[in-house]
Amino acid sequence: MNEPTSFLADATVQVATLLNEIEEVTTAYAAASGIRCRVGCGQCCLKPGIDAMPLEMLPLAQALLESKTSDQWYDAAAADLDGICVFYARDPGDHTLGRCTQYSHRPSLCRMFGFAAVNTKAARPPSLAACHWHKKLQPEVVAAAQLAIDAGGAVPLFSEYSMRLSMIAPTPSLTQRVPINRALTQAIERLSMDHRTGP
Ligand code: SF4
Ligand code: SF4
Repeated sequence: MNEPTSFLADATVQVATLLNEIEEVTTAYAAASGIRCRVGCGQCCLKPGIDAMPLEMLPLAQALLESKTSDQWYDAAAADLDGICVFYARDPGDHTLGRCTQYSHRPSLCRMFGFAAVNTKAARPPSLAACHWHKKLQPEVVAAAQLAIDAGGAVPLFSEYSMRLSMIAPTPSLTQRVPINRALTQAIERLSMDHRTGP
């Protein structure tokens, strides 16, 4: 198999590195704040059209190309471009329970949701994006986490990582957020084209 051109190959490596950093900071934030996900939960994956940049799907697209499974995933995503993420494997007994079948390659929002904050208004502290289950099962922990943020405590920010991702390849076709299945098809198309043309 041909290697992708240096531009996309470099971008893919840089995105993977940044996704790993996001994993580290959100894991550290979870440990520091005490916020935990419901055991076995996958409910946030059930939202249709979770957004992602095609850029941040490059490491996953690359892995699918290498495992020669990209065609099957491309077809599944293309059949439901604005729907629920094709990688979510539901528990047959309870669809809110399930798992990500591409966990190590998942994009930024999947890593940050529930463990990062949104800058709502200037001069206001960021607002923790706690999920339904965090608020329901750990209300005191979530409240304490927001109080810590209000007092100036550190928290991963969506805006910071979104900007850093965009700066890796500031091209609208790669950085515009679109539903995740659509982002996957675009990432596979871009990498497949590079593999065909080669350096
Ligand atoms: S962030 Fe919330 S909805 Fe998503 S897996 Fe964790 S507990 Fe479930
Ligand atoms: S990539 Fe994984 S974590 Fe993200 S929405 Fe899809 S199944 Fe859920």
